[in-house]
Amino acid sequence: MDNYDIVIKNGTVVDPENGNIIYKNIGIRGAKIAKITDENIIGKTEIDAIGLIVSPGFIDIHAHIDGHIECGKLSVLQGITTTVGGNCGCGPLDLRNFFVNQNKVGFLINQAQLIGHSFTLREAVGINNPYISANNEEIYKMCHIAENAFEDGAIGLSFGIEYAPGSSKEEVIELSKVSKKYNKVVPIHTNVNLPRNLKSLRHAIEISKETGAHVLISHFVYQYGTGIMTEALAMVDQAREKGLKISIDSGMYSAFSTFIGSTIYDEDYIKKFGWKYENMLVATGKYKGKRLTTEMYNELREYNKDESVICFAGVEEELYEALKKDYVMLSSDTGPSPTGKTGEGHPQNSGTFPRFFRKMVRERKDLTLVQAVRKCTILPSITLGLANKGRMREEADADIVIFDINKICDRAKFPDQGFPDAKPEGIPYVIVNGKLVVYKNEIVKNVLPGRCINGLAERII
Ligand SMILES: [Zn+2]
Repeated sequence: MDNYDIVIKNGTVVDPENGNIIYKNIGIRGAKIAKITDENIIGKTEIDAIGLIVSPGFIDIHAHIDGHIECGKLSVLQGITTTVGGNCGCGPLDLRNFFVNQNKVGFLINQAQLIGHSFTLREAVGINNPYISANNEEIYKMCHIAENAFEDGAIGLSFGIEYAPGSSKEEVIELSKVSKKYNKVVPIHTNVNLPRNLKSLRHAIEISKETGAHVLISHFVYQYGTGIMTEALAMVDQAREKGLKISIDSGMYSAFSTFIGSTIYDEDYIKKFGWKYENMLVATGKYKGKRLTTEMYNELREYNKDESVICFAGVEEELYEALKKDYVMLSSDTGPSPTGKTGEGHPQNSGTFPRFFRKMVRERKDLTLVQAVRKCTILPSITLGLANKGRMREEADADIVIFDINKICDRAKFPDQGFPDAKPEGIPYVIVNGKLVVYKNEIVKNVLPGRCINGLAERII
């Protein structure tokens, strides 16, 4: 009789590829799902998953972990087994070096990396002013560096146009063509720039139209969940109906967070949007948990540009509206605070995925279990072009999350109300590449099976 490393028995198994729930036992050998069967199989470790959901591990398509260990822990406790870094135009420049280092020291979960434009590539060619456009020579150089990044295994090329509002359309088009050449996704944090305005979304759609690239609009709720969600989704629907490759990721909170020194927190930008300091919450540093004041704003903008500030500018109902669309994927936008501490920042870092299942499946019943799992697994897997992730079938990578749909619950709070890094409940087991990394709700010590994903080869390095 076959012997497996891990056997998961008696679970309610979700197969998002076929949209089914199956009641079978799963045998894991090495880093792969080796057997899915009705038979009673034997493993060195056995997990009785009676009453629990067994799903492919979650893929967080929009994050900023970039090798940060503490952030990786918060993600795996949510059931995330693969994270995508380098979003919003930032992240590491030398991906070859990043991958070699990460694979040497090990990481809890798998990491795919985008090469970022707005900070990373622009800085690499010496552009330090976000309000100016790149010249032809700089565009040429950025395209060259981007090509190298794809050769090194980048999973796509990201833009944070709102952070570099000087980016010319030509700059964005030429770099998107490079991503298209490698058949990779182009995540765009759009340059919203004006309240109740969809020009920025139209621009992002035009990039796809003019280059044929697969454009992924980033953290959609933060961009358009401000009273214009219905119109924004209608615009994307239309583009998709015309055959354009446009996807969306979106989160479970209506309040976004970014660093105080960013262009988004320029004085005229805040005024234009009518944001009030009392609706802005300092999330990190010495003023953590305090509402912003003029004095704090001036001090932080001058001396602590990297501190995070959360802005309560969104309409809660619109976050659900976005995630109800069948093509919209769930994402966290998680990232480390400037000090790397986890006791500060945005609750999205710890709460996104459990909150999604609690709110949208259990309480509001917006989605069925299978629909919800699909948005966290097979949909991002296909978007990224991964052959063996987000799938529940034999020979797929053994990345698995086991959770209780009746108990799954986020505990993370905004920093004026509690702990942003509070551990969720109802996710007792997480397996990454065939290794248990969360066992009975606790992170297993000294197990770092996460690997970097080589986008070029569409395989694990
Ligand atoms: Zn962003």
